Amino acid sequence: MKERLETFLGRFLSRHTAKSGDEEYLFLFSSAACFYAASTHLFLIFFHLAIDILPLFLIYLFGFLTDLFIWGLLKRGYYTLSGILLSLLVMFHAVISSIGTGADKLYFLYLLVAFVMQLIIPYARVRIRVLMSVALWACMVALLFIQHFTTPIWDIGRASIAIMLFNVHVSIIAVAVQVTLGNVVRDMIMRLKSTELEELKNESNTDALTGLFNRRYADIFFETLSASRVDQNWCIAMLDIDDFKLINDTYGHQVGDDILILIGNTAKASLRKTDLVFRWGGEEFLILLKDTDISDAFNILDKMRSNIASECLETHGKNLSVTVTIGVCPLDIHNISQSISTCDRLMYKGKTLGKNIVLM
Ligand code: GH3
Ligand code: MG
Ligand code: MG
Repeated sequence: MKERLETFLGRFLSRHTAKSGDEEYLFLFSSAACFYAASTHLFLIFFHLAIDILPLFLIYLFGFLTDLFIWGLLKRGYYTLSGILLSLLVMFHAVISSIGTGADKLYFLYLLVAFVMQLIIPYARVRIRVLMSVALWACMVALLFIQHFTTPIWDIGRASIAIMLFNVHVSIIAVAVQVTLGNVVRDMIMRLKSTELEELKNESNTDALTGLFNRRYADIFFETLSASRVDQNWCIAMLDIDDFKLINDTYGHQVGDDILILIGNTAKASLRKTDLVFRWGGEEFLILLKDTDISDAFNILDKMRSNIASECLETHGKNLSVTVTIGVCPLDIHNISQSISTCDRLMYKGKTLGKNIVLM
């Protein structure tokens, strides 16, 4: 079952251009939310047609068309706009239906589903999702007032039980699917992605000496990153070995090579799996830290710097200690070369300040 789901996921996602694991998860869950909304709207269209309430029939028809529009937005990568529109649509429908046929028909459950969506689907920055959650809460309160202070426009009689049963089941299923499948699917995507990442580590993308990604792959990676529409919070750092020429001159090129390998390994070991290290030039390494703000990035890199400085690198029967200088800044995914220049400049400033330092 799990394997089949994984194969299906792989096929479904490969139909849509190269995306990061996060974006694939986002695309999949946003699509599922959109599909769910569309099927709910289809039922409500027929329901209101059957009980002969034309205005609500038209409103849900409009809802269904909006779902199709949102699906179009999703395919083009407008996740934030799609998520906001979908949440607003749910609020609009819960309020309108409550005014129309009575809030006691449990329309607040739609709001609950949308509320869980704010927690599970990272379609926008946390600030926006918190704002939407507050709006959903306000809507729930509004439904209470509607229930107590207004009389429904239409009395739907015995059809009430049908709509209530529908609302209960459709909402419980949606909440259950979101909270249970969310993590499972995310893990699966990450596994598929890490297999893909392993496959990417072929000769053309990696540096022969250190086994790190090379500059060629950095360009490919940056291209995908710039095209992504997911909110990305990366930091970028340039690491340069201090007085490396002296090491080469004193101990020979072979020892220098070993140090490059050791520094590459230490750098990778000091970071998380989601961070990336590229061999940028001779003895320069470019580091990308995912979902990290600048102060955390500084702390992580300073720890790495002190690890490298305190470690005695044993190579060719010699115990050497080397230091590195690092410049770090937030990454602007729409102006990557500018960000690279900034961290490079900071790294050079660190050299003039006496080396073995991280600057931000
Ligand atoms: P600074 O502290 O200012 O960075 O001084 P540095 O000596 O590290 O910097 P510089 O740029 O003058 O020297 C870099 C040296 O790195 C020059 C070159 O011999 C060495 N280098 C570059 N690529 C390799 C490599 O693949 N293997 C080895 N062993 N050395 C390399
Ligand atoms: Mg250098
Ligand atoms: Mg150097």
